[in-house]
Amino acid sequence: MIHSQNIEEFQKKFDGLDAETILHEAFKLFENDQIAFASSLAAEDQVLTAMVVRLNPKAHIFTIDTGRLPQETYDVIQSTMSKYGFQYEVLFPDYKDVEEMVSIHGPNLFYENRDKRTLCCHERKVKPLKRKLATLKAWICGLRREQAVTRSEIQKIEWDEGNGLVKINPLADWKSDDVWNYIRKNGVPYNKLHDKGYSSIGCSPCTRPIQLGEDVRAGRWWWEDPEHKECGLHVKKTKKS
Ligand code: SF4
Repeated sequence: MIHSQNIEEFQKKFDGLDAETILHEAFKLFENDQIAFASSLAAEDQVLTAMVVRLNPKAHIFTIDTGRLPQETYDVIQSTMSKYGFQYEVLFPDYKDVEEMVSIHGPNLFYENRDKRTLCCHERKVKPLKRKLATLKAWICGLRREQAVTRSEIQKIEWDEGNGLVKINPLADWKSDDVWNYIRKNGVPYNKLHDKGYSSIGCSPCTRPIQLGEDVRAGRWWWEDPEHKECGLHVKKTKKS
């Protein structure tokens, strides 16, 4: 079994593998009730969904509905379920947490300061995710190294120290062109906001389109420093050995 002490051995093995082979290996290493794919419904995650449902129709795929998603994101959930004939597990925040937060700070607290923005991400995203991860031994994500300065050192397989399980990033070395070529070639459903200048898509009030030449994540929490642009789902607190 993989753990924090032997992860380097698996990193060496996984580093030279392509995305589909990594998924294949991951589903051999873990039972279906031990591993899950966390889809953010981003373009990368749509690529992985197409791969996962083909390689392992019984694989567990979940996503988080923060309650503030754009309509186009709900549309892609629906079209993906229809195309591939599977069901997501849709996680919601605890309604009591959200009721209390919005009652105290108001619905648009995230614009006031970084603490309130991270509070909102924590209640609406991080807590539901952690609740789910506590039941697993491994999770699969669509992170890519070139997406952000905060993601430049991710490995194809790593020990997620913060959550105490294995994290698998099959697309770590993919470029944006690789993602879109795969989507076009395979007719993969994608969020139509991408056609309107949105590169990275999260909650509606915290996402805007980007201009030509801007960083791909410039449209997420655009009022904050790039070094801090994570919602807490992928905070780097991993141990490689
Ligand atoms: S992205 Fe914005 S609305 Fe969504 S959870 Fe984070 S702060 Fe809240």
